[in-house]
Amino acid sequence: MPRPKQAAPASAPAATPASAAPQSASTHPTPKFCSNCGSPLSPGAKFCSNCGNRIG
Ligand SMILES: [Zn+2]
Repeated sequence: MPRPKQAAPASAPAATPASAAPQSASTHPTPKFCSNCGSPLSPGAKFCSNCGNRIG
């Protein structure tokens, strides 16, 4: 039986168009490390858990 030829989606783009690049460090200027002792900071931390340095 002859199969019905299904038109392949030739218009499908191989690569997705470059979407808006994620802007980093634009709304969250909080550093990831303490500027005083260099200890890693948990996200949203206002004070360093190591030395107590105020963040931001
Ligand atoms: Zn610190």
